[in-house]
Amino acid sequence: MKLLFMVNELNKYDCAIIGGGLAGLCLAIQMAKLQHSVVLFEKNEYPFHKVCGEYISNESWSFLEGLGLPLSGMNLPQINQLGVSSTKGFMLEAPLKMGGFGISRFTLDSELLKIAEKNGVKVLQNCKVNNVEKVEGGSLIETSNGQFGSKVVCGSYGRHNPKFIEKALDLQSTNYIGVKYHIKTKLADNRIELHNFKDGYCGISKVDNDTYCLCYLTTAKNLNNSNNNIKQLEENILYKNPYLKAIFQDSKFLYEKPLTISQVTFNKKASYANGVFLLGDAAGAIAPLCGNGMSMAMRASYLLAPILNLYLQLEISKPEAIYLYQPKWNQNFEKRIKAGYYLQKLLGQNQITHLTLKLLQTSPRLLQKLIALTHGQRF
Ligand SMILES: Cc1cc2nc3c(=O)[nH]c(=O)nc-3n(C[C@H](O)[C@H](O)[C@H](O)COP(=O)(O)OP(=O)(O)OC[C@H]3O[C@@H](n4cnc5c(N)ncnc54)[C@H](O)[C@@H]3O)c2cc1C
Repeated sequence: MKLLFMVNELNKYDCAIIGGGLAGLCLAIQMAKLQHSVVLFEKNEYPFHKVCGEYISNESWSFLEGLGLPLSGMNLPQINQLGVSSTKGFMLEAPLKMGGFGISRFTLDSELLKIAEKNGVKVLQNCKVNNVEKVEGGSLIETSNGQFGSKVVCGSYGRHNPKFIEKALDLQSTNYIGVKYHIKTKLADNRIELHNFKDGYCGISKVDNDTYCLCYLTTAKNLNNSNNNIKQLEENILYKNPYLKAIFQDSKFLYEKPLTISQVTFNKKASYANGVFLLGDAAGAIAPLCGNGMSMAMRASYLLAPILNLYLQLEISKPEAIYLYQPKWNQNFEKRIKAGYYLQKLLGQNQITHLTLKLLQTSPRLLQKLIALTHGQRF
């Protein structure tokens, strides 16, 4: 068996993190604050845009401020009103009890990067992890920038499983695509709208920089049926919802081309595989309509950091760390992911969605219960 001490001393860390999205950056900051040496590998270069609705549930406001991000001073839109429309032109209205705020991933991820580096995290950008191998004393990590060794490895690489993890999991994927724009439009600062269309839905809400994020999710089949042409898809399908048609026609689009992703899945995967602790979308993703995948990613880092700390301080063994993390992950996320999955099934089906929205408008308590099912308490 290979040994950890075979790696160059300079490339050895207590904690290695694969992927610098919200889960990875937040974990890196916490581990560095706990005095561990941390390396984070990110295949892209900051700052960069991501396909995401950019509405963050307020459950993670205090957590982010605690990491050192001064949200209160950033003049961010506070969102507490939800509108959900059907293709037939009905709009369900509901207050959002906990509410959320808007911030672009471009801004958020790069601000967290600065905090991570200030706390001593070694962040390697443009650095892709290609393989992780368990060895005596830890793991060897093969990256596009060479080999590294670490006592623990965490996977926060988002929703696409790298090959070295895929082998260890048996997952089926439903093929959804995500499309995102930043736009200038007219919508109250405190409002998030979710507009349904056949086999999909589109969210819109304000972020920083006086800009709005417009982001939709639909099946790859819907795009295929529109000759794989996004403009055609929007005109043929999204425009059937009168609210969406008005938004598309009356807004100024700030990107020449939208940002797109494919092969999006929403399910539970695993919290540990092939020697790697998984968190964020890598462990399991919730349907975007719930608007709290980002808070879940951050909360997973908040659950995992103290467990890894105990392990690195030799107070518990690795099997004990896995044994502690798995039930915590399940308790916090399993039900939410399932609830999101079933809620998503109610959307994107023209007639059923329309009737469901009408029913929910007359049952505000039921509606608030459904929203609460997919959200956690503040942390
Ligand atoms: C259409 C859509 C809309 C959404 N809207 C919202 C919303 O409004 N609110 C909300 O809370 N959530 C929303 N979500 C969910 C949210 O985007 C995710 O839950 C969140 O980004 C998960 O964070 P993460 O850190 O796990 O992964 P990510 O943010 O995806 O970060 C993963 C990082 O890992 C890097 N990476 C991947 N592989 C490697 C590798 N091999 N080596 C090195 N780096 C690697 C990637 O470049 C990336 O930066 C939405 C999702 C979709 C698809």
